[in-house]
Amino acid sequence: MIGNILIVDDEPSSLKLLHDILVMQGLHVRACNNGELALRSVELEPPDLILLDIRMPRMDGFEVCRHIKEKTQLHDTPVIFISGATDVEDKVKAFQSGGVDYITKPFQTEEVLARVKTHLELHQTVKELKRLTETLDKSEKNLKIAQSIAHLGHWEWDISNASFSCSDEMFRILGYTPQNALLNCETLLQNVHPDDKARVKNMLSQALEGKNFELEYRIILPDDEMRVVHGKGEILLGEQPKIVGTVQCLPEHDQITMLGVIQDITARKKLEWQLEELANTDYLTGCANRRCFLKRAEQEFLRARRYGNNLSVLMLDLDHFKNINDQYGHEAGDITLKQFVEHCNATLREVDLVGRVGGEEFAILLPETASCQATEVAKRICQLVSSKDVLLPNQDVIRFSVSIGVANIDNKDTQFDTILKRADQALYQAKHEGRNRVICAEG
Ligand code: GH3
Ligand code: MG
Ligand code: MG
Repeated sequence: MIGNILIVDDEPSSLKLLHDILVMQGLHVRACNNGELALRSVELEPPDLILLDIRMPRMDGFEVCRHIKEKTQLHDTPVIFISGATDVEDKVKAFQSGGVDYITKPFQTEEVLARVKTHLELHQTVKELKRLTETLDKSEKNLKIAQSIAHLGHWEWDISNASFSCSDEMFRILGYTPQNALLNCETLLQNVHPDDKARVKNMLSQALEGKNFELEYRIILPDDEMRVVHGKGEILLGEQPKIVGTVQCLPEHDQITMLGVIQDITARKKLEWQLEELANTDYLTGCANRRCFLKRAEQEFLRARRYGNNLSVLMLDLDHFKNINDQYGHEAGDITLKQFVEHCNATLREVDLVGRVGGEEFAILLPETASCQATEVAKRICQLVSSKDVLLPNQDVIRFSVSIGVANIDNKDTQFDTILKRADQALYQAKHEGRNRVICAEG
């Protein structure tokens, strides 16, 4: 046996006998013949177990025990009473004052050893359990902090018994406080953005087939704010094989748990969207830049070819624009360009797209539009532009005009660029014929 034992007894023969039998077992033993000494001794070195006599002069065993139990570091130290008193009352009092066991004198060596052994082991186990609990508490706290720093929450869904649990950070990401929310798989799905619901459901059914999953989706918070999350998860299967009827894809296990994490990536996504917007937008006029326009145009062209839809394109170039710059200054030219795009947008539908393809050259994409309709749109822009004044900050007023070439998709076109070239040729002709006009390329 290993342990540090304190014996407290005012009777020298009993003290010696107990001391000897415990030392024989290899235990480290200290002895005191009164309560005051015992209290000082435990302060100096806390023992692993105390054998305590009841009847002692000045301070009896019950009082000694109460004092010991008041000390935090000794609160869990087992105290075994060992006394000649055999009354039930004494025994009850012994337990009430904090004792864990009671041995009556005259004692049997085997009984003392058996009880000391049991309580030493129990004490060891309790100490270990306490240490483990503290470690666990600490790592749980650290996990919470780490999750909060990373905006990462985790959830666990025990499919076999339909229980669902998740971390505090997961609640925060979903816009709830842990106290006021009851989360489960259905409520989780309710929060998913309507446009992403099908994808998330599909992911869950794939997960039920045993596949790991990973996807980005949007959630709508209770206050209608939107958050973007990155979700990841996998299925954990229990040890004991058993057929579970409800989850037919995974019939071999009695415990099926889905484990997942979601990370709040809203801030990163917003930055990405802003960057994308910047990369696609013309800084001066706010319309699509050349790169963005050509990309969208290529997509529209492929769609139009595939579904046999119509598609028209306008090429627009401001007339004698150089003169505006020369006469009124570069800033006046910029104001004119902005106003021109506003006129275009006022004339177009949502699905149409204006792109700035050069300094004062623009292109407009008109999906599902025949050339006659496109020519009408171009004429409206032409008229609007030439009929509106541009008011400069110094109160000067400018009038300007635009020339427009119109082209329409042809069966022979294999890429968007060929339509654009036809529109450009028509524009060249409009310039050649005197500007401020619309020319439609021959079909
Ligand atoms: P045309 O009728 O033949 O098109 O004549 P134009 O003067 O419009 O054509 P030209 O190509 O000779 O001149 C275009 C001018 O547009 C030259 C350039 O300095 C000006 N420009 C290009 N980008 C900008 C811009 O962002 N801001 C301003 N203010 N001017 C620009
Ligand atoms: Mg030009
Ligand atoms: Mg020009």
